[in-house]
Amino acid sequence: MSTVFILADFFEGKATKVTFELATAAARIGDVAAIVLAPIGQGAARAKTLTNGPITSIIVVENSDFQDYGVSACADAITQLISQKSPVALLVASNAFGKEIAANVAVKTNSGVITDAVDIDSNLTATQVIFGGSATVHSKVSQGTSIVTLRPNCITPDLTLSSATIENIALTISASAKKATVKSSQAPVKGGRPELTEANIVVSGGRGTNGDFVAVEAFADSLGAAVGASRAATDAGWYPHSHQVGQTGKTVSPQLYVACGISGAIQHRAGMQTSKAIIVINKDTEAPIFELADFGVIGDLFSVLPAATEGVNARKS
Ligand SMILES: Cc1cc2nc3c(=O)[nH]c(=O)nc-3n(C[C@H](O)[C@H](O)[C@H](O)COP(=O)(O)OP(=O)(O)OC[C@H]3O[C@@H](n4cnc5c(N)ncnc54)[C@H](O)[C@@H]3O)c2cc1C
Repeated sequence: MSTVFILADFFEGKATKVTFELATAAARIGDVAAIVLAPIGQGAARAKTLTNGPITSIIVVENSDFQDYGVSACADAITQLISQKSPVALLVASNAFGKEIAANVAVKTNSGVITDAVDIDSNLTATQVIFGGSATVHSKVSQGTSIVTLRPNCITPDLTLSSATIENIALTISASAKKATVKSSQAPVKGGRPELTEANIVVSGGRGTNGDFVAVEAFADSLGAAVGASRAATDAGWYPHSHQVGQTGKTVSPQLYVACGISGAIQHRAGMQTSKAIIVINKDTEAPIFELADFGVIGDLFSVLPAATEGVNARKS
């Protein structure tokens, strides 16, 4: 059976949900080998968190160069593993780090790369949603190893317990991957809310908030959701740009997206229309976002959201 590499993704030393989504997709194609790239002394602990999903084997590479040389060193290590093990595909999370890795490895291995896929089948055909969601593309890499980045939340992860074998491999990072040194780095400041692109629920506010996100945040917190914003809200300085959803912001695909005071411009839809269920709260019955809604509330967000928050909290207690 052919082998498929996935690049395991970690947060605070633990495998993230997207890692298991990658494993689930990869298992449709072949045996899943999860690559763990870790600083010296941290590989075993990280591998131990890969206890779920259809993972056949775990390849642990520990090297201090991953911290000193960043993406370039990681891509170099993956390239060496590809030449040793000849996997048919490499699946990586479609975040900024994952896409940079994918592009680097594609160049180094002379392979094709597909980014931002929302699905991949057993035949290595990837699905992408493009042009603001107006077209769906099915494509396949025709040269080298199929390198595909998969968007978080698009695949339901198989979380059954697994007992993968662990292989430790020592690699020397090549000199060409050490041409730029990482002098310092800072982990993103995490609040109590989940990361926007990986959250199961996203509650977003737009111009209709008039700059007051208190009701949006309170509703998000009642659901354990991430907070998003339209560009009108971020451009006005009402919410950080890092929370912008849309064509020039982030793409989200949660189980539930709640759009509050957002009209539904094509550029906003581009970032959220693959959400599994969409709730709209808008006081204008003609707002185009209602076309996407599974459930629409016509009303003022400043009265609808507090009532909804109270309702959710009441059911929790
Ligand atoms: C190149 C380009 C890239 C862009 N990229 C993005 C992007 O990434 N993301 C993005 O979002 N936009 C993007 N835009 C901007 C986009 O075109 C829209 O201007 C923007 O999405 C509008 O934001 P909005 O829906 O919050 O505001 P509006 O379009 O002004 O809509 C506000 C809505 O709030 C409703 N409302 C007002 N008050 C209330 C209330 N009290 N209760 C309930 N509803 C209320 C109104 O009825 C209205 O429907 C881009 C534009 C361009 C040209």
